[in-house]
Amino acid sequence: MASESVPSFRAHYRATEISAHYTGWGHFALTSTVCLGTVAFALTRLTAPTAIEWLTVPATFLLANLVEYWGHRGPMHHRTGPKKVYERHTLQHHRFFTHESMAYEGSRDFKMVLFPPVLLGFFLGAIAAPIGALLFVLATPNIAWLYVATAMGYFLTYEWLHFAYHLPASSPLARLPGLAFLRRHHTLHHDPAQMGKANFNITFPVADLLFGTRR
Ligand SMILES: [Zn+2]
Ligand SMILES: [Zn+2]
Repeated sequence: MASESVPSFRAHYRATEISAHYTGWGHFALTSTVCLGTVAFALTRLTAPTAIEWLTVPATFLLANLVEYWGHRGPMHHRTGPKKVYERHTLQHHRFFTHESMAYEGSRDFKMVLFPPVLLGFFLGAIAAPIGALLFVLATPNIAWLYVATAMGYFLTYEWLHFAYHLPASSPLARLPGLAFLRRHHTLHHDPAQMGKANFNITFPVADLLFGTRR
């Protein structure tokens, strides 16, 4: 699979997978607006949360970090999970971008980084909403809304950070504090020799540290 060069893979992908109607900035704006809108709405529902209820934020963060790690280390890099997930990540994302060619060449290339809108709908409708509803009934409304706000905030952080890792190194955004470290972490994961072994966290390498896969 490593036989095809990045330029020829990119040319083929752009010609066959990116529709003429696709706009990268529209995709970016949709993801950002839906997530920020959900976080803002959830925060307006809070009524004086207690210290215990605020613990929902770090607990959800940690859980999301583990889900990100295992989702990426598992189905995104193994054929054992859903076929589409493996295809899109290992066979497309990792061939479109390698450690030597990490940057977009135009906004239409955002398609190869941001989750498709249908998956955004899945995260919202099949993960955030039902677990939030369950917490609403089994725990407290504050815990439910803090969970929804943190989960959607985490998802958007994932999207924004991953988006920033694939910006050209000359971009002012790429030079934000802390971002250089995270960009290096993800760039190493894009080395075809390392992608199945190291740096599976896309956001903060907490689970990589826990499981000894940080390089
Ligand atoms: Zn990437
Ligand atoms: Zn990967």
